[in-house]
Amino acid sequence: MTAQLIDGVALSRQIRTELAQRAAALTSRGHTPGLAVILVGDNPASQVYVRNKVKACHDTGLHSVLEQYPASMSEAELLARVRALNEDASIHGILVQLPLPAHIDAHKVIETISPLKDVDGFHVASAGALMVGQEGFKPCTPYGCMQMLKAIGCDPRGKHAVVIGRSNIVGKPMAMLLLQANATVTVCHSATPDLAQHTRQADIVVAAVGKRNVLTADMVKPGAVVIDVGMNRNDEGKLCGDVDFDGVREVASWITPVPGGVGPMTITMLLVNTVEAAERVAAAA
Ligand code: NAP
Repeated sequence: MTAQLIDGVALSRQIRTELAQRAAALTSRGHTPGLAVILVGDNPASQVYVRNKVKACHDTGLHSVLEQYPASMSEAELLARVRALNEDASIHGILVQLPLPAHIDAHKVIETISPLKDVDGFHVASAGALMVGQEGFKPCTPYGCMQMLKAIGCDPRGKHAVVIGRSNIVGKPMAMLLLQANATVTVCHSATPDLAQHTRQADIVVAAVGKRNVLTADMVKPGAVVIDVGMNRNDEGKLCGDVDFDGVREVASWITPVPGGVGPMTITMLLVNTVEAAERVAAAA
């Protein structure tokens, strides 16, 4: 079997077309959705990420501001900027690009963002809402993975899902979303002794580790759906995921490519969260 590709670029285009209409409707009512992106320091990868996010906003009819600060910015100065954006009515979502310089406590910064503007879904209020099944912003990457499953008609109900990785921004919320969707969920991590024993039983595998070839063909049940969140570089310096794509695509039924899979969906779900934040404000006005 050769797996079908879950095309994150095409799905993103489809979702963004619909989002542009929602953004235009909000704009006509005086509530143009606004995203503020803060970048501290000159990490080259972060610069690319924030530029892509700002461009995606402009292309979809959202207002966006990019605030760039030197790595010498103090924690107090950054917290003051976040508080000012919390009060800014033209801004519905605030994103502080991670990682931050070592002298700044990222947790403190995230907890300073108003939960009403936490479009990255990293605030403990958002994590708590996800945990207990209340309304809140879902972290963009796992939210995008769930949209991909939906797009291929894969209902997680009754399926065994294995998530590899347990970070606060990908693995843990991914597991919670799959659980909410009635999958039976196993979470694996660096202390899992026999990863393959778990993945071989999975109908859905989500790899979110950050290491090449964590998942190889012999570790995958024939017909499984494989979502590759990882972003790594191969020996030629090209972007690749955590999954041995060429091998696993011969065993799986569906697979996400890297690039062109989860990455574009992450940005798209950021736009979705920002439009939702603006819709909530507009509904309350
Ligand atoms: P992270 O915070 O470094 O977490 C990695 C997780 O993988 C940890 O839970 C770690 O376990 C686990 N792990 C490490 N080695 C393992 C092994 N050999 N077997 C099983 N589990 C292992 O990374 P992250 O922020 O979740 O990101 C994961 C990957 O996704 C990275 O490549 C990142 O660049 C990528 N990513 C992509 C997008 C996108 O939009 N495409 C978005 C976010 C992240 P412990 O907890 O035990 O250490």
